[in-house]
Amino acid sequence: MVQLKQQIYAEYIKDRHGLSGEGRLTDFLSRENGQLMLGGRANLNELAQSHGAPLEVVYTPQIATQVERMRAWAEQARAHSEYAGAFLYAYATKANFAAEAVEAALAAGAHYETSAAADVTIAHSLWRQGILPEGRMIFCNGSKEPNYIEAIRDLRTDGCESVVPVLDDLDELRALLTCPAPLQIGVRERAAGNRDGRHPGQDRFGLSATEIEDAAAMIANSRHRLVLYHAMIGSQVEDEAHFLDTLRESVAGYCRMRRRVPSLRYLNFGGGVPTSGYSLGFQFDYAGFLTKLMMVIRDTCAAYDVPMPDLIGEFGRYTVATHSVFLVEVGAVKAGQPGDPDWYLVNSSLMVSLPDSILVEGQEFVIVPLSGWDRPVRPVRLAGRRTCDSDDVYPRPDQPPLMLPDVGEGLVLAICGVGAYQQMISGRGGAHHCLSPEPARVIFSEVAGRLRSRHVPQQDQATIMRLLGYPPEQMAVPLPFERPANQPVLRPLPMIASAARRRMRERVVRMP
Ligand SMILES: *Cc1c(COP(=O)(O)O)cnc(C)c1O
Repeated sequence: MVQLKQQIYAEYIKDRHGLSGEGRLTDFLSRENGQLMLGGRANLNELAQSHGAPLEVVYTPQIATQVERMRAWAEQARAHSEYAGAFLYAYATKANFAAEAVEAALAAGAHYETSAAADVTIAHSLWRQGILPEGRMIFCNGSKEPNYIEAIRDLRTDGCESVVPVLDDLDELRALLTCPAPLQIGVRERAAGNRDGRHPGQDRFGLSATEIEDAAAMIANSRHRLVLYHAMIGSQVEDEAHFLDTLRESVAGYCRMRRRVPSLRYLNFGGGVPTSGYSLGFQFDYAGFLTKLMMVIRDTCAAYDVPMPDLIGEFGRYTVATHSVFLVEVGAVKAGQPGDPDWYLVNSSLMVSLPDSILVEGQEFVIVPLSGWDRPVRPVRLAGRRTCDSDDVYPRPDQPPLMLPDVGEGLVLAICGVGAYQQMISGRGGAHHCLSPEPARVIFSEVAGRLRSRHVPQQDQATIMRLLGYPPEQMAVPLPFERPANQPVLRPLPMIASAARRRMRERVVRMP
């Protein structure tokens, strides 16, 4: 067997990804003087030092950066393609409903895309407060139960003219037509959903060509207007040529409809725009993609002799995947089976923190060590120590192991790309698998050009117990001092001094 010279981690990163180990690692992560920086300003090494791990670091200025970059690329694309329509950036809030995320996107100028009745309620409240400014568009997608329709009608009758329900079936239209205030309405093209055969599940959304015709006719005979044509091909479309090819037919669909419906003015390509949060070597030419998309629309519109539409993108993952990071610590190293890599056991649950790692085939996240860049690199697998679930591992068993420094216990890892969907799917503030508490979070926001931070403590074990139906006054935990055998001293949780409680957080809670 050939004995390979042991490579250090920094060399490995250089060989594998062409990154020098100082300066830019991704468009949201860099390394300066050996410190890992999120968005250039949040020092993850310092945060791990001062707060310990596990910790979630939420850096909302990254959201503004994402919005601003995309709008700048769209401006370049409009110039290159001589595109006459406007470009509208909407934040698909279902990727992350956290108030700080939604507000950061709105402050950066994003329009709003809703997915549910409660989402419209949030938009309504933000609109009333002026946080969602007058004139900002609110696009309402998805299949709409009566309460979703009701929420849309409430928002419109309250005076918001910029709410646009996008029809998912004709029953929705019947319910909306009776709205006393004139509505701007959109139709969603069902055919776009799984035209490429790669997005099963996506074709359940929207209307067939005939239904679109029917909708247009019904709207024409009402006080409302058809203004928007929606065509979304799927999620995580990383192949630009494929994206464009698949969308081409929908652009023609828009043009045919526009010839008969002069009020039509928006073409909405939905979500699916990729993010840099999932792989260190990620590359996507966003400006090039938008330029080509605009050229396709420009040329198709010319062929059909209709004006170019205002173009809307609904960005979920792209907006928020990269603004948040989990810091987890290796608490123990366990030998792998003979011939297999060792386990790095981390003080967290991977399947709870990163549900997409088990839900989405091949889903990866950028994982970078905070230290040990000068240490030999070794293959390892991560296992979440806070559950006893064989699925609580990363990477998945059929994927190659991670290459990480040979530091073992005490090594802190930044798990990146977790800002979109992960918390929404796992739930936030609830009782999680094996009662793993949610880590503390530090939330950075930019207020008047200055960076502010806020600390939210780790989820309290008593809260979790309460959610599961254990009355707190009956919940008792062993006290942290000696007591006679056979005579356990039990005390209700709320009475325990906070310091003692903090010390006991990691302990098993006993039932009386
Ligand atoms: C989920 C969703 C989006 C956001 O998709 P991403 O891939 O996260 O950008 C946009 N539009 C609609 C209609 C969606 O359902």
